[in-house]
Amino acid sequence: MHPPALVVRGGEIVDATGARRADVRVVDGEVVEVAAGLDAAGARVLDAGGCVVVPGLVDLHTHLREPGDELAETIESGARAAALGGYTAVVAMPNTEPALDDATVVGSVLARGAHAPCDVVAAAAITKGRRGEELAPMGELHDLGVRVFTDDGFCVADAGVMRRAMEYSRALPGAVVAQHAEDAALARGGHMHEGEWSSRLGIPGRPEAAESVVIARDLELAKLTGARLHVLHLSSAEGVRLVREAKEVGVRVTAEVTPHHLVLTDAACASYDPAFKVHPPLRTSSDVEALRAGLADGTIDAIATDHAPHSPETKDRPFEEAPPGMLGLETALGLVLTELVEPGHLTLADALAALSWRPAAIAGLDDHGGPVGVGALAHLCVIDPSAAWEVDASALASRSRNTPFHGRKLTGRVRHTLLAGEPVVVDGEAQR
Ligand SMILES: [Zn+2]
Repeated sequence: MHPPALVVRGGEIVDATGARRADVRVVDGEVVEVAAGLDAAGARVLDAGGCVVVPGLVDLHTHLREPGDELAETIESGARAAALGGYTAVVAMPNTEPALDDATVVGSVLARGAHAPCDVVAAAAITKGRRGEELAPMGELHDLGVRVFTDDGFCVADAGVMRRAMEYSRALPGAVVAQHAEDAALARGGHMHEGEWSSRLGIPGRPEAAESVVIARDLELAKLTGARLHVLHLSSAEGVRLVREAKEVGVRVTAEVTPHHLVLTDAACASYDPAFKVHPPLRTSSDVEALRAGLADGTIDAIATDHAPHSPETKDRPFEEAPPGMLGLETALGLVLTELVEPGHLTLADALAALSWRPAAIAGLDDHGGPVGVGALAHLCVIDPSAAWEVDASALASRSRNTPFHGRKLTGRVRHTLLAGEPVVVDGEAQR
């Protein structure tokens, strides 16, 4: 059964080819006409007046917690949160229980994701059980469509294992090895960024060097092997500098940054609120500046949420006992528009590139992020850039509530999301 024909009317299209005012006609899930003043007779009309119409957002870094921690999130609830946030595709991280390290587990996640209100693709573990020792069957997983390999949550500590994973990935078209760059030995026992605030608060810290030593090593391995490396949740000025220099000499590296590392600093931990605990940790204002500069100059390719739901039972504990991670899918776009685009740190087009077409390219999602043109699958997001709203943790679609942005006033919100032509979000409401 095909969704009915519809017309997205009155918006301004912004995609990788530029901006233009036009309506979009969608039939059988595909864009069939893009022109101003389309006749909408007989079609369902989605009002895009005052809005920008863009390719659906793509999140490279989503923790859906299924299988293993369905109390915190499920594929269904996470995909609904994603659709509400404007995403039409998310890459599900493999640090589930069991880990996504073999074809059976990955296959079951893909099967459950197939009916979700957002495309769900799986990243798979680099090593069996994410233990950092023996490579997962990367070829078999690639056959299932996996392109992103990562032990995220854990850093692959063994340089020999990382080298072999990179060498192996070269034989797999489109594959990329993604690293949670935190040296476990340096970060051990730390709960926030190591610096002035950690000493003042008496909370043991995780030094910036825990990130940069791993990035520096992995860049050398990418050089040695010629493989693609993706740096997950880049958080430090030094990390930005290393990635920038590597790109200049042609290393095949991409990097992502989270909204929270772009808008929060370690000073937030002074509240001792576990909502601000995350790995890698929130860092200093000079790190935030470097991350913003790296995003603006293209050193950082993508904004990824690292959406990390934790049920209140596990997260609402003293800072040093709480697990790291925060929600991201439903607040990412609003934060980027409010804190980066509106003040002029980033153009709207650059923000959308980092939220949609560049992450789509990194994950090899050919159907997502492409220009809004005839013949394209209608994965679209309609954004009202002037909609003012306040983040309410209790109103989120996620099963969890661990957002550090509760009560924050944002400007810019998703009005509609279309997944292959199906309006899965209409006027800010999830349709299923
Ligand atoms: Zn991570």
